[in-house]
Amino acid sequence: MSTELVCFNRECRARFPVNQVVYECPDCGSLIEAVNDFSGTEPQALRALWDQRRLSREPLDVSGVWRFREMLPFVDDPAQIVTIREGNTPLFEAPRAAAYGGLDALQLKHQGYNPTGSFKDNGMTAGATQARCLGLQRVACVSTGNTSASMAAYAAAADLQPIIFLPHGKIASGKLAQALEYGALTIQVEANFDQILALVRRLAANVGIYLLNSMNPFRVEGQKSIVIEMLDQRNWRIPDWIVLPGGNLGNVSALGKGLRELKQIGLIDHMPKIAVVQAAGSAPFYRYFHCAERKSFQPVENPETLATAVRIGAPVSWPKALFEIESAGGTVESATEQEIADAKAVIGRSGIGCEPASAASLAGIKKLVARGLISPDADVVAILTGHLLKDPDYVYRYHTGGLKAPSGQEIASTYANSPVVMPNDEVKIAKFLADAVS
Ligand SMILES: *Cc1c(COP(=O)(O)O)cnc(C)c1O
Repeated sequence: MSTELVCFNRECRARFPVNQVVYECPDCGSLIEAVNDFSGTEPQALRALWDQRRLSREPLDVSGVWRFREMLPFVDDPAQIVTIREGNTPLFEAPRAAAYGGLDALQLKHQGYNPTGSFKDNGMTAGATQARCLGLQRVACVSTGNTSASMAAYAAAADLQPIIFLPHGKIASGKLAQALEYGALTIQVEANFDQILALVRRLAANVGIYLLNSMNPFRVEGQKSIVIEMLDQRNWRIPDWIVLPGGNLGNVSALGKGLRELKQIGLIDHMPKIAVVQAAGSAPFYRYFHCAERKSFQPVENPETLATAVRIGAPVSWPKALFEIESAGGTVESATEQEIADAKAVIGRSGIGCEPASAASLAGIKKLVARGLISPDADVVAILTGHLLKDPDYVYRYHTGGLKAPSGQEIASTYANSPVVMPNDEVKIAKFLADAVS
């Protein structure tokens, strides 16, 4: 088994060796993808091997990404692999969230249970590994927060130098705290994500840093493990729908690629449908997908949403995302700030919790069920992308009132749970409790 880098553009398909640093095709400017040779792979034997590794204590077998390493055959020397026990995330039954979405049942695959609290770890373990295979010292990313938290941790684990570029002031506090604690050189630029990414793409070539944004094809390889692990947890029962939020659209690209490869190998016999949900204030892909003639892709100049993880107006991976959604069948939905906030609170009440962007999945499901695209008895898995504690300020404001959308409009605290202040008085507190339970 082996890997080649290939231009994603079906009319170009320029090829590059796996050890070349290439983020976009020098001939046509398109994205690059890793193309793996899986010939001779026997699906039943692979499943048996992956099952057997669950009894192992070896770090690579214990990783929820590298347990499936036959799907990521770009690593020649396993000693280069950087792992901090990523993946292994739970798949929850969520009856309360299902009822809210209009479904009989719903499963939540919670990527927030990763070591740095988001699905970015599934990809970063692969990206950091490739940096090591290439013998590079400095790694960089532009981030709305979670990519930088993840990259900082993996760089620290691998003794690489992490350099992080963030939009000044528009980042959830938990994420910035992580980057600082893991020792990343952190540069807050006074521009939005899209502007900074354009800047850093020019810088990377001149300054000799390895870019670990999601256009890095190895991150996509790592993120494929999310669907592999999910199907493994379901004993390879294929859901009708997989629903996830979309920002830069790297994750939907990865999930789609993973599913196609599983089908190619014979581990699944058909594709589940995929729905991507964007925040209404930064939904260029939603608009593009639904316009009558898809001519040119129009970015959103000033993307706005409190779901900062998806506050991206010019998603780099949209051509891959479009390809995957068309191959799998599926759709793109959008959700307002209010819809995201309420769906998030419902996921919280389920004892699960997630960050705002993640809740776009449930908000989208509710709309797609109401519209008849997803039937109430469908078998649906939603991907929760990040942990509740990534953005505690948002949570506090929602529950106590005063959460405002970027437009300035107040978000209704439909499922508010505000703390109560009481005097140090046993009688009063006892009376309050008696009233509260009745
Ligand atoms: C990065 C991220 C997203 C968006 O994923 P893309 O691959 O950029 O589409 C959604 N939610 C969370 C929590 C994220 O960190």
